[in-house]
Amino acid sequence: MTTSTLSRLPIVVAIDGPGASGKSTVARAVARSLGFCYVDTGAMYRTLAWHCIRTGVDLGNPRAIAGVCRRWKTRLHLEEGEPGEVVLLVDGFRPKSEIRTADVGQAASDVAVVPGVRRWMRLVQRDCCRFGDLVMEGRDIATNVFPETNFKFWLDASPDERRRRRQSQGVEDNLGYRDRQDSQRAAAPLMMGLGAVRIDTTGRPVEDIVAGITEVVRNGVSTMGTKVP
Ligand code: C5P
Repeated sequence: MTTSTLSRLPIVVAIDGPGASGKSTVARAVARSLGFCYVDTGAMYRTLAWHCIRTGVDLGNPRAIAGVCRRWKTRLHLEEGEPGEVVLLVDGFRPKSEIRTADVGQAASDVAVVPGVRRWMRLVQRDCCRFGDLVMEGRDIATNVFPETNFKFWLDASPDERRRRRQSQGVEDNLGYRDRQDSQRAAAPLMMGLGAVRIDTTGRPVEDIVAGITEVVRNGVSTMGTKVP
């Protein structure tokens, strides 16, 4: 559903947490079950990092990185699907497998400490609302991007489980480096939002978690006098 068919403000479901906490799987499934658009904000930081690497921007130079955000040619695009996904295109291109490497993950965490980058990302991420109701996953959605939303969830899992998940996905990921840098940065650090529901996903079936979140949102929305599919 797009804003052109909504006669009310879009609903945003914020799902935050560290890497391999289960955010992507859960957020995608919640979006599908509610008929909302899905937004992976980590992919936006990864896209910026990939673009910086590709164009030779020094990742140790915050001014240069912030400068990229003022210059690069990007556009938000709704990819049709179940769920629909709002993605960031660079020069009309959506990088996919290119942004899933360990190097780009680490570089994403590096560019994410730059305040100018976070300001740019916040504006673009808030603009995703023009596509309709959203399930948005990230690190600072409940604290910084949409602090006004009534639907905030914080996902976590034990360090062993998170490592196992990455191994079983065959993905190399410097989780320790990213956790440390993401939680210790001054601008919008990784932290649980005020009033967020904390969910430990360790050893729990995904369907249970998705059903729980979907129910909270449906109940909350109906008390607001609105209906979702
Ligand atoms: O979620 P994902 O692992 O793809 O995120 C890559 C990196 O992007 C994170 O390690 C974090 O540094 C950054 N990020 C962020 N804020 C978000 C989403 C991601 O700082 N909302």
